Amino acid sequence: MFAALGTKVTLVEALSRVLPLSSVDEDCSKVLQREMKKRKILVHLGRMVNAIEERSEMLQVIIEPSTLLSAPTNKTKGSITVSVDKVLVCIGRTPNSENMGLETIGLETDDNGWIKTNERLETNVANIYAIGDVLGPQKIMLAHVASAEGIIAADNAMGDDRNMNYRAVPGAIFTSPEVANVGLTESQARGQGHDIRSDIALFRTVGKAHVIGDIAGQVKIVSEVDTGGILGVHIIGPGAADLIAEATVAIQMKATTRDLAGTIHAHPTLSEVILEASSLAIDKPRHA
Ligand SMILES: Cc1cc2nc3c(=O)[nH]c(=O)nc-3n(C[C@H](O)[C@H](O)[C@H](O)COP(=O)(O)OP(=O)(O)OC[C@H]3O[C@@H](n4cnc5c(N)ncnc54)[C@H](O)[C@@H]3O)c2cc1C
Repeated sequence: MFAALGTKVTLVEALSRVLPLSSVDEDCSKVLQREMKKRKILVHLGRMVNAIEERSEMLQVIIEPSTLLSAPTNKTKGSITVSVDKVLVCIGRTPNSENMGLETIGLETDDNGWIKTNERLETNVANIYAIGDVLGPQKIMLAHVASAEGIIAADNAMGDDRNMNYRAVPGAIFTSPEVANVGLTESQARGQGHDIRSDIALFRTVGKAHVIGDIAGQVKIVSEVDTGGILGVHIIGPGAADLIAEATVAIQMKATTRDLAGTIHAHPTLSEVILEASSLAIDKPRHA
């Protein structure tokens, strides 16, 4: 976003790809990095900021090989210094559950301080529920997850018996282009023993992308070979954060690629890229 506003941006990432989140498809990271390069964003992967020094009203950022990767490559060896006006730091979150007296009521947290709950979002203390970021990264730290958890916890506190389901949680990242995902990545699906296929449709294959002049990006559908059951959808491109809603409903309803490919999508809209990807997934591409 800053680059789009004309700022010269340098990005430093300690791991080996941009957006190195387990929920983000590796191909989305590659496309995003390619688009960043087109926007002249300098990306340093496998490197960490070691120190920031103030010198003549500028900040000297000293960038070293990452200690989070096993060995530096030729690209990441040595130290680099970048001179900048501003530094934005965006690295991880920690719980804020200390000094609240949780221990006085015997409420359990894990070793890192995240509050433990069961599927009903009840803590180990009867009638005390917890929701949101304080449950930690295992439960997905997003605003809409906190909101959904709040409803489940409130219903249970009022006598209902509902479990929180994290199977169909959409994630949206407001980079340019946007990235959005729901369900499993290819590697997560394989890791869970699924026999999968991955089908990719490019935004450039749909007319609306050309109409709005924004053709970079793709949709990837990860589905089960036998059943066509949709396990994950990964989008990078225009409107990704909105388009993921269709994929979220599909996963929530346990839809198959055949269901999506058999659904009429309005023309000309960006949603046709999902139609294209699902048509590929049943070996009936429309514009191949
Ligand atoms: C930079 C950034 C960008 C984000 N972007 C997105 C996004 O685009 N989409 C998305 O879905 N999520 C996003 N998130 C995550 C989202 O903000 C959180 O998942 C969400 O706010 C969690 O809600 P919560 O109610 O659990 O916690 P919070 O929103 O953090 O609310 C907790 C509240 O409790 C208060 N508090 C803390 N201790 C005490 C105390 N002892 N007594 C009383 N009050 C206390 C805090 O001040 C705070 O107001 C982003 C987070 C960050 C940091």
